Amino acid sequence: MLEQLRSIVQEVNAARDLQSALDIIVGRVRKTLGTQVCSIFLFDKDINSHVLMASEGLRQESIGHVSLEVGEGLVGLVAKHAEPINLQDASLHPSFHYLQETGEEEFHAFLGVPIIHHRAVLGVLVVQHEEKRRFDEAEEAFLVTLSAQLAAVIAHAEATGAIEGVSPSGHKTSDTAFAGVSGSSGVAIGKVVVVFPHADLSQIPDRPAADIDQEIKYFKTALDAVRHDIGELHGKLAGRVAEEERQLFDAYLHMLDDSALGNEVVERIRQGHWAQGALAWVANEHVRRFESMNDDYLSERAVDIKELCSRVLFYLQDRGKVETVYNDDTILVSEELTAAMLAEVPKDKLKGLVSVKGSGNSHVAILARTMGIPTVMGVLDLPFSQLDGREVIVDGYKGEVISNPSDELRERYLSTIKEQDELIAGLENLKDEVCQTADEHRVHLWVNTGLMSDVMHSIDQGAEGIGLFRTEVPFLLAERFPSEQEQTAIYREQLQAFAPKVVTMRTLDIGGDKALSYFPIDEANPFLGWRGIRVTLDHPEIFMAQVRAMLRASIGLENLQIMLPMISNIYEVSSALQLIKRAHRELLQEGLDVRFPPIGVMIELPAAVYQTRALARLVDFVSVGSNDLTQYLLAVDRNNPRVAHLYSAFHPAVLNALYQVVSQAQEEGKPVSICGEMAGDPGAAVLLVAMGFDVLSMNAMTLLKVKSVIRSISLDAAQDLLDQVMQMDDAQTIRSAVDLALYNAGVDRLLRSSRTN
Ligand code: PEP
Ligand code: MG
Repeated sequence: MLEQLRSIVQEVNAARDLQSALDIIVGRVRKTLGTQVCSIFLFDKDINSHVLMASEGLRQESIGHVSLEVGEGLVGLVAKHAEPINLQDASLHPSFHYLQETGEEEFHAFLGVPIIHHRAVLGVLVVQHEEKRRFDEAEEAFLVTLSAQLAAVIAHAEATGAIEGVSPSGHKTSDTAFAGVSGSSGVAIGKVVVVFPHADLSQIPDRPAADIDQEIKYFKTALDAVRHDIGELHGKLAGRVAEEERQLFDAYLHMLDDSALGNEVVERIRQGHWAQGALAWVANEHVRRFESMNDDYLSERAVDIKELCSRVLFYLQDRGKVETVYNDDTILVSEELTAAMLAEVPKDKLKGLVSVKGSGNSHVAILARTMGIPTVMGVLDLPFSQLDGREVIVDGYKGEVISNPSDELRERYLSTIKEQDELIAGLENLKDEVCQTADEHRVHLWVNTGLMSDVMHSIDQGAEGIGLFRTEVPFLLAERFPSEQEQTAIYREQLQAFAPKVVTMRTLDIGGDKALSYFPIDEANPFLGWRGIRVTLDHPEIFMAQVRAMLRASIGLENLQIMLPMISNIYEVSSALQLIKRAHRELLQEGLDVRFPPIGVMIELPAAVYQTRALARLVDFVSVGSNDLTQYLLAVDRNNPRVAHLYSAFHPAVLNALYQVVSQAQEEGKPVSICGEMAGDPGAAVLLVAMGFDVLSMNAMTLLKVKSVIRSISLDAAQDLLDQVMQMDDAQTIRSAVDLALYNAGVDRLLRSSRTN
């Protein structure tokens, strides 16, 4: 059975579109189980019904014409309860609904299983038989397993149809929403530009050819270049490898023939697609077909096709970088967005961001918030390669991408954008106001930075200090470790620009999802592995160079603080302190007049929460990294969209941990700040103020929003709210209570609906 399951799934995966996928399923299942009927009903939300989409065994004329309303018939029952129904004689069941057009009266045995994707029932897979008998356990288990494996394929095929504006049953649709998670709040409407890593066939988007003849010419030149390379290889290998292996090259050359792959690509270009897209499409079709073959030798040929087509792609891309054209309202879409992709787009043209992978606390989302660009992350079901050039709405509040927007919906979102712009303009006059609650309790708002451009923007927004300078950012952009001198220059710039305000520099925090290309770390569990202080203590030469650079950069400015990330025990702190003292001593011996800076510890791990007092005793301040703390307390990977709904800083466990950190730090008489993204969520900020955090450090874009909310609420009211929520036992209820309190304080709806950590 396992073998059959695997082969059905592979064959379905190779299908061109939804209808052929469904046809393959019903045909293969009927044969495998030896039943007389196999059918698939899919839910069509436009008509709120389950439509018979494919069948073998029922009358073919009924396909696409027969439907059952929600809850109607046995199919409706399977969908409603999201559970299989297995009956010896369906006609005796009270929910049986006879579908005359299908000719199903002769079939008695009925087994229906739901097709479920991300908790939603997409449809029902049904097998029927004349004989009055219950399907046995093995048959039921087979169908349930198959349906679970096919759900994602069906969802993807449906979504591809929806992008074209058609529902499963062929109705015209609009306003198709693809769910993800909020990466950065705000709304944007614009045209999609799909960006992709080079030389990856699976990610090349489909684009229209600007000049068909030119594209064919490019393709043929690339093809010739590959032919030439392979011919050369073929010659070089003569006498060195077995003739059999040399024949592989003949096979390659044959595949490139005009009558084979080459011809198909040219045909597709002629239909109006650009060369790269046409090549990727043809290659992926062949790869899928070969992979689905039940023969090891043939399925291995998929690897050859990939290899060959990647070579052609290389030449196509190498003939000169294809200049990506960014329209004035670019919505940048990628399977996995990177900081470098963002950097390529001219700032004034970038309106929204969408990433299929990643989550609200991925570092690229943090960057997007710093830039103030509406962003949706983790849109797993988005057929992104079909989106190039299409208009979409990015709803960064809800975490949704909407394709084929109707005029009404567009109008609604345009008015939200207007409201949003007015709100931001209205906040401008708060820049020079102090941040205090309505009853004059002073709160300090600092910023998180990474690049020099953040610093300039932060100063402009009235930031009172830098609570977190992510020093790894310049390391990530470099091609090797920056030298002590280079680092000194970078740090000096930040310290100088902010002086006399305090700048908190975090020592290098790599590992986890922050990989340096020139220092690869390959681990099965990177977030539980060699990260932050663990790496730098194992490489004291890197740590020492960095600390020496920080200290040298601070000479005469005296506004430096140093902070240690990913601390899990006191030895890491004492070891780091010894190294910092050594660096300080060395510089003094070199005759430099360096002041020893305040040192702080980040509380990012549950272990550190329970050791706050012991840690605080060793240092001058503590700062909570709530992004990692939430991830580790809730065991939810901050990058994984599948579990993003479980990631919430409003979880009672997180709030309790934060409260505990504040009280313990206060007992030791040490200042306590928070520099995770939570501090930039206006609702969360109110709770943090009530808990007694001395400093909230956030990205500059949210600073004025947080200031405006803090100014509109009294400390008393914030403390009452905190007392209330600390009695609550789930994140959703807490979020709602906070929203209600903000509403009562007259806070604007767009500030209330800022993204939830
Ligand atoms: C955090 O974990 O909250 C934090 C501020 O550090 P980063 O997001 O850089 O991991
Ligand atoms: Mg962290």
